[in-house]
Amino acid sequence: MSEEEIKEKEKLLERIDELESQVQKLEKDLIHDSLTKLKTRSFFEEEAKVYLDMAKNLEAGKRRQWFGFKNISFLFIDIDHFKEVNDNFGHNTGDMVLKEVSDTIKKRVRMGDTVARWGGEEIVVSLLGAGLYDAEDKAEDIRKSIEELEFPAIPELKVTVSIGVVSSEKSDNFEEMIKNADKAMYKSKEFGRNKVTVF
Ligand code: GH3
Ligand code: MG
Ligand code: MG
Repeated sequence: MSEEEIKEKEKLLERIDELESQVQKLEKDLIHDSLTKLKTRSFFEEEAKVYLDMAKNLEAGKRRQWFGFKNISFLFIDIDHFKEVNDNFGHNTGDMVLKEVSDTIKKRVRMGDTVARWGGEEIVVSLLGAGLYDAEDKAEDIRKSIEELEFPAIPELKVTVSIGVVSSEKSDNFEEMIKNADKAMYKSKEFGRNKVTVF
């Protein structure tokens, strides 16, 4: 190979490396929300549908034996009066609160459970192996831990969330489950916010 050809080849290899890292970054962005570092909505949807299919298509014994779970539950979490947080303390504080709430939720769930950003200030959680009562307990635990959050730089700032709970025991269609979790969350708002409602 001539010197020129070697240089050409090196350039090409460099370009391939560049493209590979661009692809890796795109894949990472598809899976992780950049602000909260939670999973994205599309990742959550894909994953939840796979779990629901497994739960549907395997008989109970196999399900437990292979995957260690029978039911799957979802939480739909919405921060209360979040617009006021932005209006009173600024958008950067709003972002900081969103991150803090996300981290708090992540710390309260088990390995294998997924926490994702559904939309602006809405977070969804999948709880593997959790029936309705376990999921309600977990939701209550999350609600309480967020109510107890303190922000040393802004002592007067209080944050609460409203939560809706659904379980595959009642319906195992993903879209229907999320719709019902959202409905239950709105009931929590109606009941005065900072509440957990089971669909
Ligand atoms: P409710 O208790 O009924 O849920 O009231 P709310 O104020 O939380 O509800 P609303 O839907 O009116 O407002 C949501 C706000 O969340 C408005 C929007 O600007 C803000 N928001 C959405 N995404 C972000 C974000 O990434 N960062 C910040 N700082 N604010 C966000
Ligand atoms: Mg909302
Ligand atoms: Mg809200």
